[in-house]
Amino acid sequence: IPTLVLVGRPNVGKSTLFNRLTKTRDALVADQPGLTRDRHYGVGRLGSRDYLVVDTAGFDPVAKDGIMHEMARQAEQAIAEADVLLFMVDGRSGLTPHDQEIANRLRRVDRPVFLVVNKGEGANRAVLGAEFHALGLGAPLVISAAHGDGVHPLLDEIFEVLPPETPPAELEDVGPRVAIVGRPNVGKSTLINTLLGEERVIAFDMPGTTRDAISIPFSRNGREYKLIDTAGLRRRGKVFEAVEKFSVIKTLQAIEQANVVVLVLDASQDVSDQDAHIAGFVLETGRALVLAINKWDSVDSYRREQIKSDVMRKLPFLSFARQHYVSALKSQGISGVMSSVDKAFAAAMAKLSTPKLTRLLEEAVTKQAPPKVRMFRPKMRYAHQGGSNPPIIVIHGTGLEGIPASYTRYLERMFMEAFKLQGTPLRIQFRSST
Ligand code: GDP
Repeated sequence: IPTLVLVGRPNVGKSTLFNRLTKTRDALVADQPGLTRDRHYGVGRLGSRDYLVVDTAGFDPVAKDGIMHEMARQAEQAIAEADVLLFMVDGRSGLTPHDQEIANRLRRVDRPVFLVVNKGEGANRAVLGAEFHALGLGAPLVISAAHGDGVHPLLDEIFEVLPPETPPAELEDVGPRVAIVGRPNVGKSTLINTLLGEERVIAFDMPGTTRDAISIPFSRNGREYKLIDTAGLRRRGKVFEAVEKFSVIKTLQAIEQANVVVLVLDASQDVSDQDAHIAGFVLETGRALVLAINKWDSVDSYRREQIKSDVMRKLPFLSFARQHYVSALKSQGISGVMSSVDKAFAAAMAKLSTPKLTRLLEEAVTKQAPPKVRMFRPKMRYAHQGGSNPPIIVIHGTGLEGIPASYTRYLERMFMEAFKLQGTPLRIQFRSST
């Protein structure tokens, strides 16, 4: 999916625009208990097209040393991996030397750059336009991130320059697309090598450029899979090696492209914010998920109990996923992971019949009616399936707008159990007619 990267000096309004661009998808997982969001990476949708948004807030692209320098390095990485750059300036404070510096950097980028003048509400657009034109990045687009003015036209212009979406048709013929993700050093490469080293890797084409993600088809016990690469894997003899360093953007794109995500955690380390952010992103995309808690061979029984409770405490919103304790190095527990991948894929793609959904809904409402919303009892009439991976159940009725999250979760749990859906999240949408 296309990656939009926001750059600009502090306080120009990057996070306000970020929030606006990612709002559509945010709503889907807003009330998940325990979920903390990473404010720098998010997904948005325009019509039927999804996009990834990266906010480089805090990673100043021109700093020379210390922590600012490290942030600059991350900003550089984001710029290098962007499909489109949004360079944001502040229309109220006018052009500053810092803007000039960033513009100098961006003029050397071979990707489309959109110059976005923020805080443009009530301003004279012609005057603003002329002032910022001097940056040499083309005609500025004046918006107000806070009010939302000009944001939709900006997205339309962005999608004009992006290549059209490639249809996912070729992905249908093989089994699940699997992404193995996790923060650096948890053992992803080791796991991939264990998995692919033992198995038959079907010949595949190397892409022409390193910017294209590749997927590696392989079969195991007579089943076919496609492994989505996150690090530019190259084959060296019998082993694969990563040719690039860890990239959050590639990780998020792999999650988007996958049917099933294997999130690798390191049993010798506590669950970190980075683990939680990657996990939160998986939840946001609705992908099926399997947890592989790796390096199990290197930890004693005390630590084993500790990490189990750490995972439960810090990632409660992943309780739908099966957990496996594995050693990628010693090739232990891998079969269990793959069998959970199969089950999670089957659950994610399950066909849920309308009569059964409606009957289950009626039973659930009889057992426990939805609470009254402003004096009226919501009425649920019938349910049908509205999508797969994740399965979406659409419930029709009247007065469904104010159904509390706790009741939605009650229905979710009931459907999950009735259809034995394991390893995938489930989404419920309400459609009210009057
Ligand atoms: P990546 O950055 O997630 O791809 O991690 P690597 O696969 O490069 O592994 C990082 C380090 O952890 C390497 O030194 C591996 O040998 C080690 N490692 C990976 N898996 C295991 C495991 O199951 N047990 C132990 N003890 N070490 C492991």
